Amino acid sequence: MDYPGNLFVVAAPSGSGKSSLVKALMEVDAGVAPSISHTTRAPRGQEKDGREYHFISDAAFDAKVAAGDFLEWAQVHGKRYGTSRQAIEDRIGAGGDVVLEIDWQGALQIKQLFTNAIMVFIMPPSWEELRARLLRRGEDAPEVIELRLANARTELAQAGHFDYVIINEIFERALFDLKAIVHAQRLKYVAQKRARADTFQALGIA
Ligand code: 5GP
Repeated sequence: MDYPGNLFVVAAPSGSGKSSLVKALMEVDAGVAPSISHTTRAPRGQEKDGREYHFISDAAFDAKVAAGDFLEWAQVHGKRYGTSRQAIEDRIGAGGDVVLEIDWQGALQIKQLFTNAIMVFIMPPSWEELRARLLRRGEDAPEVIELRLANARTELAQAGHFDYVIINEIFERALFDLKAIVHAQRLKYVAQKRARADTFQALGIA
């Protein structure tokens, strides 16, 4: 499927700092919009329905799957998560950029549908640091943390399917890397030609 906007797909084991990085990217770059996923998990901490996620019941999730409302969906840490089709197709179809913060299973499904999607994988610098971050976050029960660490092994094994890898050791450095990927994408010939059509025309470039 071809479209004028950029679709960035960011995946990482939980605790890699993915959400903070994507949030920071959007604070400095108004051109990138998030996609609010639907999930069957309960809100954590300060999370608000419609902001981090649309929190829905299993039955409501089933209905959305049946209606074809999701571009992709996957079971992650025992709960289901899905990406809404309409909002994303509308935005990238109109030339806007979207960032999807999803798990690797969803990321690979998206790559099948949108072959031009830019795939970014974020890694923690070490197992010790990953565990420490999950504990520090203080949002999950110990058994949930163990499940997330076990899942991280499977998730890290998928890094080879991605175009870019960011090792989130120092937050500012990782944010710089993420911004660089987004920026480089916008400097590609087709993107520049689209964004600066007048300049191309004035220079006589067909
Ligand atoms: P959390 O429960 O920590 O917010 O998210 C757990 C995992 O589910 C993270 O890896 C997150 O990126 C992923 N996730 C969030 N939304 C979606 C989605 O719409 N689809 C898929 N496949 N994964 C998602």
